Amino acid sequence: MANEIQPAELDRESILTLEDPRFSSDRVAIVTGAGSGIGRATALALVHNGLTVVATDVDGEGLEETEERKEELGLRGEIETVEADLTDDADVAAIVEAAAGLGEVTYLANIAGFQHVAPLEEFPVETYDAMQRVMVRAPMLLAKHCLPHMRGGEEPAGVVANMCSIHGHYVTRDKVGYNTAKFALRGLTQSIAAEGEGDVRSFSLSTSYVKTPLVVNQIADTAQQRDISEREVVEKVMLEEARTKELMDPIEAANAFVFGFSEHARFLNGADLLFDGGYTLTY
Ligand code: NAD
Repeated sequence: MANEIQPAELDRESILTLEDPRFSSDRVAIVTGAGSGIGRATALALVHNGLTVVATDVDGEGLEETEERKEELGLRGEIETVEADLTDDADVAAIVEAAAGLGEVTYLANIAGFQHVAPLEEFPVETYDAMQRVMVRAPMLLAKHCLPHMRGGEEPAGVVANMCSIHGHYVTRDKVGYNTAKFALRGLTQSIAAEGEGDVRSFSLSTSYVKTPLVVNQIADTAQQRDISEREVVEKVMLEEARTKELMDPIEAANAFVFGFSEHARFLNGADLLFDGGYTLTY
């Protein structure tokens, strides 16, 4: 039987498009995790805003699907795909090199990530290390390679965005790798803002549950395990603490990146966009 709750499909009308002189094809946005979920939606939203997008992921088939979606939706702008493993430093450098060959490297969206659930005493150290490499070290290394390209251009010269989570604000048990990585990303965001000296801005985005394949499959599994409906899993298990009992669509996260990259957000620097439906700060 098909899952009751399906990953959200993106449509052209739901993409936020903004007037911004810097949203042009001579400027390049790098998007990691662009083969699925939030990364794919962000790559498509940025390309439709007229940017040239370097869409990167370790999942080559996922990247092909992202390109296909762009064609199906008739979005403007160019997408260049780069298959790369973010745990590999040479691959990380190659992403920025590819971007620099296409235009002015102006935007970086660090979105790739993954979850692992296990109690601390049993948490596999190799998995912990891999999470830190993909979700903390690679974003830092990408920023390190991008900054020389971003500095010294028109002001402000560039923006680095990091996909955080409510787990960058508070923790849930059995997610030590994820919790520590997401808290670290906020430190990285603020470090880039501090050293960007007004030329390079940085911000992070924290959401609660987003309707991506990853989360949708978790819903079906939990419904089966607990013998409750998928709707009950969303409302009672995942979003019990939230005021908004709906899962966010990936495009809603993508649109937050569009806004954060735009000149409308020029005072957003070092801060976190906490778009959590009232999850974290209400009771
Ligand atoms: P997803 O699984 O749909 O996409 C993640 C992508 O990251 C995948 O395409 C995967 O191939 C890629 N990736 C993983 N390891 C990689 C590596 N070594 N090298 C290159 N790419 C790699 O997940 P998603 O739900 O779209 O999540 C994207 C980001 O958003 C993650 O950082 C996640 O922590 C964050 N986030 C997700 C949610 C949610 O509810 N889905 C909520 C808050 C934050």
